[in-house]
Amino acid sequence: SSFHSLDSPVFHRPLPLHRRPRWPRMGSSTPHHRNNQNKTKLIVIMGATGTGKSRLSIDLSTHFPHSQIINSDKMQLYNGLDITTNKIPLPERKGVQHYLLGEFDSIDADVEPSQFRSAAGSTIADIASRGNLPLLVGGSNTFIHALLVETFDPQVDVFAESSSVSRALRYDCCFLWVDVAWSVLSEYLCIRVDEMLDSGMLEELAQFYDPTKAGVMVGLRKAIGVPEFDAYFRKYQPWESPENGVVPNKDRDQSRREAYEEALREIKDNTCRLAKRQIGKILRLREGGWDFTRFDATATFQALMKKKQSSAVAAPELEWREIWEREVVEPSVKIVKRFLEE
Ligand code: ATP
Repeated sequence: SSFHSLDSPVFHRPLPLHRRPRWPRMGSSTPHHRNNQNKTKLIVIMGATGTGKSRLSIDLSTHFPHSQIINSDKMQLYNGLDITTNKIPLPERKGVQHYLLGEFDSIDADVEPSQFRSAAGSTIADIASRGNLPLLVGGSNTFIHALLVETFDPQVDVFAESSSVSRALRYDCCFLWVDVAWSVLSEYLCIRVDEMLDSGMLEELAQFYDPTKAGVMVGLRKAIGVPEFDAYFRKYQPWESPENGVVPNKDRDQSRREAYEEALREIKDNTCRLAKRQIGKILRLREGGWDFTRFDATATFQALMKKKQSSAVAAPELEWREIWEREVVEPSVKIVKRFLEE
């Protein structure tokens, strides 16, 4: 339905004014975001990589100013590789407090789901005990599951064919799922990889590269981009790169370019594969009875890509933002409001 509506005049509405929440802020010792079973209320923003979860969390927090964000992206937990793992840059956080974002130093071991459960669990308790609203944001559905279920068994892979998902959760959750039609998302993800490289991903990976650890797949070394560029860096040691001043001969240039293109292709493939897996897991959780509200951000991303492709024609920057506001932000604000008033 959203595919042929891009030129409709309704997109030229002004953005909604900043709205303040209606409920009073309580004293610091009175946790007020609790339901009638005395469970802590938690907003959970889900979605595949690249669908705008971080943006939505910041947009929501302007409507609910006492929001605080807990990261649930497996790779963004670690300190380092900010561009490669797509951490939301500091200026875009607009002063909203983020937890578990780049807080783990251990890159020689994986953070386990049970570790995440306890770290995020105590973070949520702290946030709620100060009367603030916790927002969980990130793409790791394994971690989200481990955190939210009433009883967690680290021995069981709930996403395996034979398993089933429990609907007994330890928080009162409001699930917001940002979804984008696959044909549009996959195209966008490839463009995003190119943009990440333009903004310094290769340089970041070159600095991170450690020839003694090539092939070691733990912690942050699992981030998409690290294994894919290992072969490239092994062949073309970072200090030989043109960026560092060494001019390669023409033959070498050719094969270097090929190795680069190969890594780029792998990164794009693996990013699309990750997104597909994530969507599969979200569907599994929904089948298991987790009550998601789905928002379709397809039209937003179509407008965003239209803008990128027609940079010469000075396409209106605001168009995609308006669509995003109307189709994702406004309806999710309504849902969160209702949820908090329940
Ligand atoms: P799985 O059970 O497959 O680990 P999951 O839902 O627990 O899935 P995901 O967040 O989907 O965890 O991450 C799986 C893999 O996807 C990571 O190990 C990493 O290779 C890649 N990945 C995930 N998030 C990022 C990211 N922000 N940056 C780079 N790579 C990522």
